[in-house]
Amino acid sequence: MEKAKNILTSHKFVRAILWLAGILAILAVAVVLVFGGRGRNVDIEPVIPDNTTIIDVKSGDSLSKILSSQGINHNDINTIAKVLKDKAGITGLRADRDKIEFVRESDATDAPIEKIVVVPGPWRRVELTCDDAGKWDCNAIDIERDTRLVYRQGEILDGDSFYLAGMRADIPAGILADVYDLLAFEMDFERDVRAGQKFSVVYEENYHDNKKIDNGSVIVVSFDALRGNVKMYRFRKSDNTIGYYDPNGNGAIKSLKRTPINNAKVTSSFSTRRKHPVLGFTRAHKGVDFRAPTGTPIPSAGAGRVVARGYNRGHGNFIKIRHNGSFETLYAHMSKFAKNVNVGTVVKQGQIIGYSGSTGLSTGPHLHYEIIKDGKHVNPMTVKLPAINNLDAANKQKFLEYRETLDKAIEGLVDNPKSFIQM
Ligand SMILES: [Zn+2]
Repeated sequence: MEKAKNILTSHKFVRAILWLAGILAILAVAVVLVFGGRGRNVDIEPVIPDNTTIIDVKSGDSLSKILSSQGINHNDINTIAKVLKDKAGITGLRADRDKIEFVRESDATDAPIEKIVVVPGPWRRVELTCDDAGKWDCNAIDIERDTRLVYRQGEILDGDSFYLAGMRADIPAGILADVYDLLAFEMDFERDVRAGQKFSVVYEENYHDNKKIDNGSVIVVSFDALRGNVKMYRFRKSDNTIGYYDPNGNGAIKSLKRTPINNAKVTSSFSTRRKHPVLGFTRAHKGVDFRAPTGTPIPSAGAGRVVARGYNRGHGNFIKIRHNGSFETLYAHMSKFAKNVNVGTVVKQGQIIGYSGSTGLSTGPHLHYEIIKDGKHVNPMTVKLPAINNLDAANKQKFLEYRETLDKAIEGLVDNPKSFIQM
């Protein structure tokens, strides 16, 4: 990443030229659309030059698969992979997000390749070129972005879910999912959400040439939950790591999630006594059940190591993860396990470990989730969970000053919901 930045700053001139070329290309397209439309049909699809092939990365694709499909030989593929890794920090392609452009010397489909451009999202282009000696090099270009902070607020109505209320408040689905992920550390959406509660979100919108391209991160989220206001701020520490903190600067991201699956309804709570739906007699329910159609991805509630993966009569297909400290979590009734998740696998928080199902003693597809603390089952909805990434004194001071400035700026947005904070 750093290397890519250095390349970038020393190539400001090149970048300016590329910008100009980009603007001219857009103007050319606009001219085609305006003048070409008279008297004959024109293709409104984006104009791709005949010597350029654009490939959208799909699930199952790999860099070598795509490169070899364009006639790049094995040696060059290895070199390109190394250059991308060393100079642009790109180690793999992401399906449904990344693109690769192949620019040939002429329109002929077998013409030699002049340039390969890896496009990891709308804000970066990594151009690979090969010199006469056959040496590949790359140039990473960051696309200039103009970030605005916008404010949205909403209210839970009778019979509402947080999701519906969020959509009504004009919060984009992706941002809403992130908000849900954050609040899930602090809130039990079954019991903490009631009609009349208010919430607000401040998030980034990214613009280029005054056109909105995408949404960025959630900056502040606030929810008036039943047991009080839950508020979190996104903050970058002096070592550049990013986290979310409560108004006092305490880490808001906990080591474990109370609700591993987003927006899932609790169908059975933790209890020391309940009538078992299959066995019929009364016994403790040592976890929480979340409704989840078969095949719903199940993320790990926290970072840890898989200590058990298998099948038993009660749990069906299950996975158990040991986390740092004294906590373990268990996920039961899975239809299948995620690929490459085995006993001993180290998983990140949020990494998909399997898919919901109804294996074992189960009346329908759901996730049965347990948290075990020091060998004893505890209620996932109420257990006190340790925070990760807490702030040291210097960062806490910096956070409190930042929060005060941000809060003042947000006051302006509350009064003028159509305005934004220019970053
Ligand atoms: Zn259960």
